[in-house]
Amino acid sequence: MRGGIDLGGTKIQTAIVDERGEVVGQARRPTPTSGGPQDVAEAMAATLSEAAQEAGVETEGLVGVGVGSPGDANEKTGVVSAAKNLPGWEGSFPLAEALQEALGTSVKIGNDVQVATEAEFHLGAGREFRSLIGVFWGTGVGGGLVLDGKPWLGRGAAGEIGHMVVKRGGAKCPCGRRGCLEAYAGRSAMEAEARHLQEEGHETDLFHLMEKHGKPRLTSGIWERALDHGDHLAEKLIERAVEALGTGIASAVNLLDPEAVILGGGLGVRFGERLTGPLSEEMSKHLFVDERPPALRVASLGDLGGAIGASLLVSR
Ligand SMILES: [Zn+2]
Repeated sequence: MRGGIDLGGTKIQTAIVDERGEVVGQARRPTPTSGGPQDVAEAMAATLSEAAQEAGVETEGLVGVGVGSPGDANEKTGVVSAAKNLPGWEGSFPLAEALQEALGTSVKIGNDVQVATEAEFHLGAGREFRSLIGVFWGTGVGGGLVLDGKPWLGRGAAGEIGHMVVKRGGAKCPCGRRGCLEAYAGRSAMEAEARHLQEEGHETDLFHLMEKHGKPRLTSGIWERALDHGDHLAEKLIERAVEALGTGIASAVNLLDPEAVILGGGLGVRFGERLTGPLSEEMSKHLFVDERPPALRVASLGDLGGAIGASLLVSR
C-alpha cells in the first residue's frame, strides 16, 4: 500500500491506495491557517496517519508516500518554496525530509495540480486520451499537462495556466502581476472583488450566506447557493470568471492542440456540469481551429483525485 497527500490551501486530503489502485483509507483536515511550514507538515503527518489507521496499516509499513504540493515543489530535492497560500511559507522548506521523519517511510513531492492531472489521465475523466490539459479552478487556477502520454513538467514550472495573461494591464493577480487568468477566476480574487463591489454599494447575499453557514471564506458551496438564489453580483462574477477561463484555456489549446481539457478543482467540480456549455462557448470565440474543439470533461475522481495522483509519485 502507498499513501497520497493532497496539500491544499483549504484542506489536507489524504488517501491510502492498495496495489489495485483502490482507496482503502482516507482522512481530511483543514490546513492550518497560522504558524509555519513545520505546523503544516505536522498536520499532514497526522492526517495521513489517520487514513493509515482506517486502512489498518502503520505508516512505516507503506511502500512510500507521495505529496501533491502547491508552490514551487522540487521533485528531486523534496523542497517546497513560495507556497504563498500556506501560512508562513514564503521561503523554502524541506517537506519530504520532515514528513519522512514523522512517517517512517520514503516521501516524494510533486506539484499538486500536475499529480491531480495525472490521476485523471490514468484513472479518471482523461483515461481515453493521449494528451490533455488539466485546469483546476479553486482558490487559485492551476494547470497540469500530459502530452503524448507523458507528464510535461518543463523545467519544473510548466502548466501554470492561471498566470496566462488574459488581459494586458488588467486586474491585479495574487502573484503580483496584472491581467492573469487567476486574477479573474481564482476564488481568492473573486472574493476580493465581491467584497470591493459590496463596499461600493452593490448588493449581494454572498457574505451573509458565508456567515450563516459558518464559513471563513466564500467556498464553492457558498457561491453555488448564491447562484441558486439568483444573486446578481455572484452571477456577474462567475460569468466574468468563465470568460477569463475560456480565454486562457483557448490560448493554451491554440498552442498545444490537446485532445481534451479536464476541468477540476473546488469550483470546477461544483460548477463543471452547469458551466461546460458557457465555457465551451467562451473558448470557441478564441480557438484558432474552432471546428474541432477538444473534449471538455469534468474531473471524475472528485476530492480524492489529488491524493490518489500524489500516491502515483511513489513509483516515479
Ligand atoms: Zn498571476
